[in-house]
Amino acid sequence: MSTPRAVDEVVDLVSSLIRFDTSNTGELSTTKGEEECARWVAQRLEEAGYVTEYVESGQPGRGNVFARLEGDPGNTRGTLLLHTHLDVVPAEPADWSVHPFSGSVSDGYIWGRGAVDMKDMVGMALALARQFKRDGTVPPRDIVFAFLADEEAGGAWGSHWLVENRPDLFDGVTEAVGEVGGFSLTVDRPDGTQRRLYLVETAEKGLAWMRLTADATAGHGSFLHADNAVTEIAEAVARIGRHTFPLVMTESVSQFLAEVSAETGLDLSPDTPDLETALFKLGNLARIIGATLRDTANPTMLKAGYKANVIPQKAEAVVDCRVLPGRQAAFEAEIDELIGPNVTREWITHLDSYETTFDGHLVDAMNEAILAHDPDGKTVPYMLSGGTDAKAFAKLGIRCFGFAPLQLPPDLDFAALFHGVDERVPVESLLFGTRVLEHFLLHS
Ligand SMILES: [Zn+2]
Repeated sequence: MSTPRAVDEVVDLVSSLIRFDTSNTGELSTTKGEEECARWVAQRLEEAGYVTEYVESGQPGRGNVFARLEGDPGNTRGTLLLHTHLDVVPAEPADWSVHPFSGSVSDGYIWGRGAVDMKDMVGMALALARQFKRDGTVPPRDIVFAFLADEEAGGAWGSHWLVENRPDLFDGVTEAVGEVGGFSLTVDRPDGTQRRLYLVETAEKGLAWMRLTADATAGHGSFLHADNAVTEIAEAVARIGRHTFPLVMTESVSQFLAEVSAETGLDLSPDTPDLETALFKLGNLARIIGATLRDTANPTMLKAGYKANVIPQKAEAVVDCRVLPGRQAAFEAEIDELIGPNVTREWITHLDSYETTFDGHLVDAMNEAILAHDPDGKTVPYMLSGGTDAKAFAKLGIRCFGFAPLQLPPDLDFAALFHGVDERVPVESLLFGTRVLEHFLLHS
């Protein structure tokens, strides 16, 4: 009896993974499913011959699974971490054309919450881990397969807890791959042909949620009243919301723009007036790329007052700040200028930005793996505007990349599928990704 290959079972695995409702609401009391899903993943690994470790990251039910595949003992590059997360953002079934936790396979897609973020990659990693173990494969270096909790709420009860409390799980790890990268972007060349670029994530903006507070004097709404906390907070929020931070060319972004300009003939240099708009010639991915040209600060919450005729003593706002590598101090100085002396600020959540260079053996292995399965493809670095578990692993000095390969149809609005309605992944993209990831891991 021949044993199944990764490509033979990856679709079933992804579909099964989606059927676990692992919705992460951001609240401990309502987040669910991670333990069941993690234990199921552990069983799939154990039946292929692994010894696994199930770890709860600081709270009951926050399940994580680890398995290690021994590589060539003569290798000096350290261990490679392949990390994925099992949780997903919630989904409202009434909005979807299929049930978001059905994992149904139809019209050439696997449908459901997590199909691209990131049970697709969980399935690929699981299928390949099983194949390697069954075959007795010895990869060039040790590989740690990690299936994690709580990524969608920032990883406080997942990657960050593990890094702080169980660093031994990452002993010897020097480099890591995870989301969000490796997917194709099809661009038009000046001669009318097209080319697929595969975007490898080499950088992430920082994530900083800021609370603004105005303290003033409470009083009667009918009186003359000079210092009003609501007015103070409203003015600060409006100034931040309308502010444009300076264009800053980080290494990852300038490399990306140079590569894309060379390929397409578009002028996407830093001097282009309204570069953000020019980027939309590349399609919807411009929503992500455009957000990596500058720091952003978007007001998201307001809180003040309890009665129409009472001026409250206190007013608050929350601002979602995303800061470029190297910009934190300058960003804070600009914010202080905008909020003025009567409003104070504090960080509710603060995760540093991250950036690495697009070079070295691991990057070569990504290039080669893509070229082996798409000879006209090309890998380019890019910066993610959001955050991933890479932020936690970077704290251990691990060099992190987003590389979850998918060859996508040119017209698919991939960015819209993340946390979107009718999230789905093309079956062909997943099979391609599994082959590329296999090639990559065997040459990493
Ligand atoms: Zn994700």
